[in-house]
Amino acid sequence: MAGDIAEGSVSALAALLMERSLDDPELQRASDDAPDHRILPDVTVVKVGGQSLMDRGAAAVLPVVAELADVIRTHRLLIGTGGGTRARHAYSLAAELGMPTGVLSEVGSAVAGQNAQMLGYLMARHGVPVVGAAAFSALALYLRESGAAIFAGMPPYDMWQPVPATGVIPPYRTDAGCYLVAETYGCADMIYIKDEDGLYTANPKTDPAATLIPEITVDELIGLDLPDLVVERPLLELMRNARHVRSIQIVNGLKPGTITRAVNGEHVGTLITAA
Ligand code: ADP
Ligand code: MG
Repeated sequence: MAGDIAEGSVSALAALLMERSLDDPELQRASDDAPDHRILPDVTVVKVGGQSLMDRGAAAVLPVVAELADVIRTHRLLIGTGGGTRARHAYSLAAELGMPTGVLSEVGSAVAGQNAQMLGYLMARHGVPVVGAAAFSALALYLRESGAAIFAGMPPYDMWQPVPATGVIPPYRTDAGCYLVAETYGCADMIYIKDEDGLYTANPKTDPAATLIPEITVDELIGLDLPDLVVERPLLELMRNARHVRSIQIVNGLKPGTITRAVNGEHVGTLITAA
């Protein structure tokens, strides 16, 4: 009987938890016995880029706001924000002042928060609230009431941000933060709204020979060892261990209709998939 099996495996785990270290491989496998539960399976997470979109001002932001307002009539969205140029300016100041990664992380969070606030005021007339990390416990209610909620994309590691191998720039920034929300909540999709058609073989802004890669696996992409990426590199490692969000799409928010098509499941940018 299913109930007996579930009970049996739980007590095997309970026994291991009493005896072993939490790093014990057998214990770790036993903790994975239960089927994974998707918390918000019909929600799509979209990230509105900081540098790529918000920093372009009204010309780029207002059409995206209008499109998102339209999309939430038929889909439930969690809308994360990036930091962008103001975060980069703060990183440069803080780094020159010898500040550690944890301090840069807090400073970067503030800027993603400012973008969430501004996006929130723009979307207020559509009934969309901004939620801080402390309000995530009420996310289900916000989504049911208004079909969407806005959050600052920076993961709240703050002072506890892991220190990178080189330099002091926080390795987990808003691309990773939005992705972790999608993965934790078992969301349907993670879409990055940026200012390019997707991932290219090189940065298309500096390399005119760069060509679009419509679809690629995480392992292939790590193997290519491209000089620069359209998403934060540590995101690829996060995707390798994902239980729910095994693919992400990067789309061009400057092209009208693209966000709608992506939320509808169309392949309109670059799909990066954990094989
Ligand atoms: P966001 O503000 O959304 O975080 P970023 O500016 O950090 O976006 O990242 C998007 C930018 O990454 C693009 O505008 C592009 O100039 C740059 N980029 C670097 N490498 C690539 C690449 N291989 N393919 C596409 N874009 C790239
Ligand atoms: Mg970025």
